[in-house]
Amino acid sequence: MVPLRVAVIGAGIAGLTVAAALSRQGIRCEVFEQTRHLREIGAGIQLAPNATRVLRRLGLGDFLGVVAVRPEAIEMRRWDDNQVVARTTLGKECEELYGDPYYTAHRADLHRGLLELLPAGTAHLGRRCIGIEENTDEVVLRFADGFTTTADVVIGADGIHSAVREVLLADSPEFSGQTIYRGLVPADRLPFLLTEPKVVLWLGPEQHGVCYPVSAGKLISFGATTPAADWRTESWTAQGSVTELAGQYAGWNPEFQQVLSAAEAVNRWALHDRGALTTWSTDRVTVIGDAAHPMLPFMAQGANQAIEDAIALAGFLRGATPDSTGAALKQYEELRNPRTRDIQQNSRANAKVLHLPDGEEQRERDSELIGRANLRNQAWLYEYDVERITTEIVNGRS
Ligand SMILES: Cc1cc2nc3c(=O)[nH]c(=O)nc-3n(C[C@H](O)[C@H](O)[C@H](O)COP(=O)(O)OP(=O)(O)OC[C@H]3O[C@@H](n4cnc5c(N)ncnc54)[C@H](O)[C@@H]3O)c2cc1C
Repeated sequence: MVPLRVAVIGAGIAGLTVAAALSRQGIRCEVFEQTRHLREIGAGIQLAPNATRVLRRLGLGDFLGVVAVRPEAIEMRRWDDNQVVARTTLGKECEELYGDPYYTAHRADLHRGLLELLPAGTAHLGRRCIGIEENTDEVVLRFADGFTTTADVVIGADGIHSAVREVLLADSPEFSGQTIYRGLVPADRLPFLLTEPKVVLWLGPEQHGVCYPVSAGKLISFGATTPAADWRTESWTAQGSVTELAGQYAGWNPEFQQVLSAAEAVNRWALHDRGALTTWSTDRVTVIGDAAHPMLPFMAQGANQAIEDAIALAGFLRGATPDSTGAALKQYEELRNPRTRDIQQNSRANAKVLHLPDGEEQRERDSELIGRANLRNQAWLYEYDVERITTEIVNGRS
């Protein structure tokens, strides 16, 4: 069989995961990344069992067990008096129920772990893709430095501002009206958070805060959303003002204020998403992760879904030949479109739900949160085994 030549544009979580999954299947791929230094920004990420399950199978189980943290619970608390509104138990219960843990991790750790799964020479840095021309037999890729190459399949894993997505649809990111400040603080500065590792969300009018331990418990990652005013910058290196941030959360409970005042620096990021993509693929070009379905971070599922995409796509490409890529990409799209669309929409809805002003609606929401706190209610999200489902479709059993 003629081996497939796959090109991946972008070496974020989506791009590295699909490259690792393809490599595991013996499909050689090249990853082209625009930046010259491969690194993820310093911030935390929540990884749910729907992703940790497939990351374990990729070979990252032990690695995550060492570098990540297994939180015992997710707690929703009130912004003013720090009262717990709802608590979802995770820890051992999550593993018993879903077979794999919920983790909180430093993005740089996850990125490093994925990178180490790739055969040497897979990732090419400083290569910004600026042209994608699809012909009947192959795709021609052009890069900003003048380099050109060809591939049988091109996977756009190039994030919310995807150049590859432009092949499929001429749309633009939509601004949510919200920004998020993010930072990392040495955990020993916040001893009250060390008694039990957990994800804590404080819900308040128009704003919410979140924090959890990462890096084997050595650091606390926090996020604080605020209405944007005139902030539109979308860069993880854009510095926010610690003083301004503290001012935005004046009057909030002392615990969250202590988290914010322990930070020496914060980044600030304007939150965008895009409408759902109706067509994900041509015969030879497709998209995964934020390039396909950028979502607001209010379900903490963007990267989890990127990882699911990557595993599904690699599964459908197993056994594809240079002449049969269109059918594989179609199957991938049919599986991934409905699920990611749902999660994208729920994430948008949460932008309102999590930021209700105190009053009747907020009290109703809090009652619902209590009702939903049982971990079993997350089965639709956490039980989902994308690898098993993909294999069943490929084998004609679904
Ligand atoms: C505040 C915040 C908190 C979040 N928290 C969570 C969470 O807890 N859990 C979760 O699952 N998700 C979370 N997410 C979502 C998650 O961060 C994203 O969904 C995920 O990082 C997307 O990964 P990606 O690889 O698709 O895209 P990106 O991470 O954007 O990677 C794209 C890569 O492509 C490269 N690139 C772009 N254009 C080109 C080009 N033309 N040529 C070559 N390379 C190119 C970029 O340099 C980059 O390296 C959060 C998001 C935000 C904003």
